[in-house]
Formats: sequence, C-alpha cells, structure tokens
Amino acid sequence: MFKLSAPGIIAAVLILALLPAGTAAAQSIEDVEAMVTELANSDYLSPELCLRYKEYKEQREQVITYVVQKGDTLTAIAAAFGVSVASIAASNGIANPHLIYPGQELKFPAVTGLLYTVAPGDELEALAEKYQIDVETIWFANALDSSELQPGSTLILPGAKLPEPPPFASVVSRSPSLRSVPGLIWPLRGRITSGFGMRGRSFHGGIDIAGPTGRPIYAAAAGVVTDCGWRGSYGYMVEIRHNEQTATLYAHASEILVKKGERVQQGQLIARVGSTGNSTGPHLHFEVRVNGRPVNPRLVLP
Ligand SMILES: [Zn+2]
Repeated sequence: MFKLSAPGIIAAVLILALLPAGTAAAQSIEDVEAMVTELANSDYLSPELCLRYKEYKEQREQVITYVVQKGDTLTAIAAAFGVSVASIAASNGIANPHLIYPGQELKFPAVTGLLYTVAPGDELEALAEKYQIDVETIWFANALDSSELQPGSTLILPGAKLPEPPPFASVVSRSPSLRSVPGLIWPLRGRITSGFGMRGRSFHGGIDIAGPTGRPIYAAAAGVVTDCGWRGSYGYMVEIRHNEQTATLYAHASEILVKKGERVQQGQLIARVGSTGNSTGPHLHFEVRVNGRPVNPRLVLP
C-alpha cells in the first residue's frame, strides 16, 4: 500500500539534493513540505509523490498504545487496528504471539510495519536493506529532517519485512494503564453505531452510542466537571475527571446540565443526547482518556 516506486527514490534524492548544503538538519518538516508543494508544480516531482508524502506525514503521528485485556488475542487486536500480528509482535519483542498477558502494554505503528528503536550506529540505508523497504519510505513515514538517525528515537518502518525470529525493539512506554480507570457504568444504553479504533484513514477515539434526542446521559463515574460547552466538532460536550489519570468525555449533546467545576456522582444526569457538532444523527460519542490518551471504552465498561 505504501510501497514507493523507483521514480520515488529519485524524487526523494531530489528533495535532499535541493536542500541547501549543510543545512539539511535545520530544515523543519514544514519547510520540506512547503518545498514539496512547490515542486509539485514542476517537472521534478510527481504530484503522486507529494500526496504520498502527506499520507506518510499523517501516519507518522499515529503510534497506537494498547493495554492487553483479559481474553484478548494478538489476532483480535491486530484485526481491530487493521495491522498485522507480526507487526505488533515485532514492535514489542514478542517471540510467541500466543503469549500476551492482561495489563501488558503494546505499542505499534498504525500501519503494518515495525516500530523500531534506533540503536547507536544505525544507518538509514542499512535499516532499509535489512527490512527490505525503500529509504524514502522510512524518510517520509517519519518526516525525517536529516538522514542521521538519533539513537534512542523511534522510527516507524511501514511494510517492514520481519525476519524470524522477530527482532526485539525496546520501546520505552509512557503509556497509560487501564488499572487507574475506576469502575464505570454505561452513560447511555443503546446500539453501538461506531466502535473505537481506525475508521477508514482516521482514528475514532471513542464509541458512538445511538439514542433519541433528549435521552439522559449519565456520568460514567463520580468526578469533577473539568470542561463543558461548545467544542467544535464535538458539539456540546462534557468532560469529567475521575482521578489524576482518568477522564471521560461526552459529545454531541443537545443540552448540558452541569457546570464546570461541579462535582458529580456516578449515574448523575449530566446532559441529554443530541446531534450537535460533527454528527449525522442523535448519538453519544463517549470517550475514556487515560493520561490524556483515548482508550477503548469497551475495555473498561461492564
Ligand atoms: Zn464518535
């Protein structure tokens, strides 16, 4: 899917060659992107490559952190995020894909490939050869400013051919654990119309629960209202902080019934279902965030 052709290599080399000598490392991603856009109108760089560059830049942002829950299999997790089992296994140094355990934190790229931690002495060309991908694929996927790799930094290697046994990639995880999430109740009962995870090319950070306009939305757990009001695509939304790590978010409401700073009890009526903001019909968009990152509500709801 993200395999670049031979002309792509030439174009990537062109980008490098066009950077002023000696200042390549100082180029920001924005600078490179601006240049690519400019070159799109010239004979040197195909618009297709520019488009790919933009895609890669988006992909670069997406490293998924997932905490294994009881009953999870690597196959199911891989399917849920649309990546390969090998990709998750290799990115987390898992030798036997059958051996994962609840509470284990997995970090992997949103595209099938390898999340690779740069070791001292690693070189772009050598990595490309080892994992049988193009240099410019790595370049674009990580929006690199320089071909000099920083030891300890993490690279996404999309489409990396993973050797057997999978290489160990140690990733220092600053990711949350679901252990901090208090016992939650369903804020609204209804059909789940959209689940958590990749939705086409974008990431859906919550679940959508269908319900008629005006139906009560309840606080999933006790806490303090840390934010509420009109928030763009979320429409009218309420955010409740439950503890230092955990917050829940309720979006697209027709009506908000709490105030910022207010303490709420579990099961308290906080808002009413609506279709405000970026919404195609009345529903609740419900998010659970741990240390600011969205986690799958299904894993923490009863
Ligand atoms: Zn949603």
